[in-house]
Amino acid sequence: MINRERLCRTFMELCAIDSEPKGERLMADRLTKLLLELGFTVSEDGTGQLIGGSAGNLFARLEGSGAGEALLFSCHMDRVVPGRGVRPRIAGDYIVSDGNTVLGADDASGLAALLEGVTALKQAGLPHPPLELVLTVAEELALVGASHFDTGRITARACFVIDAAGPVGEIVLRAPEQVKFAATFHGKSAHAGFAPEQGVSAIQVAAAAIGRMKLLRIDEETTANIGSICASGPTNIVPERCELQGEVRSLQADKLRAQVEAITAAMEAAAREFGGRVEIRVSPCYPSYTLGEDCNPARRAARAAERVGVPVRFKSTGGGSDANIFNSRGLETVVLSCGYEGVHTTAERMPLEQLELLARWVLAIMTGGGE
Ligand SMILES: [Zn+2]
Repeated sequence: MINRERLCRTFMELCAIDSEPKGERLMADRLTKLLLELGFTVSEDGTGQLIGGSAGNLFARLEGSGAGEALLFSCHMDRVVPGRGVRPRIAGDYIVSDGNTVLGADDASGLAALLEGVTALKQAGLPHPPLELVLTVAEELALVGASHFDTGRITARACFVIDAAGPVGEIVLRAPEQVKFAATFHGKSAHAGFAPEQGVSAIQVAAAAIGRMKLLRIDEETTANIGSICASGPTNIVPERCELQGEVRSLQADKLRAQVEAITAAMEAAAREFGGRVEIRVSPCYPSYTLGEDCNPARRAARAAERVGVPVRFKSTGGGSDANIFNSRGLETVVLSCGYEGVHTTAERMPLEQLELLARWVLAIMTGGGE
């Protein structure tokens, strides 16, 4: 029922549409048109204006043609930078970009699988429950699009976000909470040649603070990273300002707090030691979630994967997705793996076989029947 050629065509068309975060207008328009043609009602929310983007989240609904409770599928419309001017092509068993941009399989593979699944469903006249879709903007900016979506509009109680790395058949049941931190180190400027002893180097304080931190892999469930350090000035002035930005993630709330406290303490200790000062701002990005293998969407996804003939594997992930937002609002949401490789790099590629399996998996979930 899945038409591989049509699926590839849709996938490559979507990849070729410019759709970096906050610049999803063309993608939203194209998807709206395709969904209307498939019989969905489609509406766009006001998130675009709220976040300074060109488009809002799309909410689409297709009435059911049989029994069964509504199902929600969700993908994001944006992709990481560089994600404009993508030129997808088939190379052997893969679809690749020309190497100057990402491919955008994250998350065009999910979008294409959804469109193909519904197209196949309608062509074959298969009974299906009501289908709801949330297609988000700015997912790659710490889930900001989904966090503005009014989840009260969703009637489905089993939700599937199609947006994980890994071979088709993997079902994500756990994802970490994330917080970001930003710190400004204040030193004291002085002439670096005449009177350096009168200065306090903000760069030196920041470096000492970083030296005191444990970073990257903290334990099995916890990670931490400094992503940015900024200070600039002439070499003959002791620098008075240096800014740091970083993040901490953990599957366990207490471990996350402990790591944030350790990082904060390291920065304060370094500032004291050098006679400088530090201002620290910690901001939560999204909460964690943990679901059981027997929750409604996990059971449905596992049964559908068995029908498609791919191995089922339940897993946890180190990355956030819109499922973090949906779960925090009381909607049981699992994430389905898409089969894409090299995600968030210009070497990103989509195995043709995995794209087809993904569409078959999505179709099998849609036709899984009531439970
Ligand atoms: Zn993604």
